[in-house]
Amino acid sequence: MPLLADGRPRRERGIRFAGHPDQLKTLERYRKGESDLVFRGGKWYLIATVEVPDAEMNTDPADFLGVDMGIVNIATASDGDNYEGAGLRRYRQRMAKVRSELQVKATKSAKKKLKARARREARAVKDVNHRISKQLVAQAERTGRGIGMEDLAGIRDRVRLPAAQRGELNAWSFYQLQAFIRYKARRAGVPVVVVDAANTSRRCPRCGHTAKANRPIRDDFACRRCGLAGAADQVAAVNVRDRARMTWAVVNQPIVADTPRPAADTSDKPRIFRPE
Ligand SMILES: [Zn+2]
Repeated sequence: MPLLADGRPRRERGIRFAGHPDQLKTLERYRKGESDLVFRGGKWYLIATVEVPDAEMNTDPADFLGVDMGIVNIATASDGDNYEGAGLRRYRQRMAKVRSELQVKATKSAKKKLKARARREARAVKDVNHRISKQLVAQAERTGRGIGMEDLAGIRDRVRLPAAQRGELNAWSFYQLQAFIRYKARRAGVPVVVVDAANTSRRCPRCGHTAKANRPIRDDFACRRCGLAGAADQVAAVNVRDRARMTWAVVNQPIVADTPRPAADTSDKPRIFRPE
């Protein structure tokens, strides 16, 4: 940030800046207050605050779009669409290799390079998460549906990776994706239901049979009882959708109480008789 001689931030006007078309649109409509100009990693960034009003919540969704998150495909929707898997995975693997090479060196410049790469990698993940969350929310909004996603407490067990690939980044990137889905959904008025993730990858959505043997190999699902077969991540997404439907129905069903209602008139107020 440009500073005055005494260290206070300096006010500047008419600074030209560039940005993603979406960002510029949002900024134009919802900018709030002043922005900060910061210098980071050799570049200037304008950090602006915006206040985007939430859309009215769709309280009567037509259905739910179930979302499964995983390593092969970052997100798979119950409709069968996969969201960006291979590209980012390859990129991360390449980065992991470069990282381990730099770690071996352990020199000052290698450390600096490591830091820069970590930042770049985090930015790449963030971009992908923004794109995926935007697509998912748009899809749900367009079709009048809510979004169902898994409680992330369960995702750690599901995401089993070779030790070399295991890292903070994976769990963290799923949390980020969910956070993005939540706020974009809120903005669009799309309800989000979080469901228990237990057995979503082992349960048959057609007959309910739940078994480890339903997953003969990692990417395939084949029900041992009824024969339903399909891509494992889509089956999981369908299970998430079904749980979201159920959760929504339970939470939103009208309260049918069998306790007697209080008598219509138990007050001490004087009764008013209308003359005939
Ligand atoms: Zn089955």
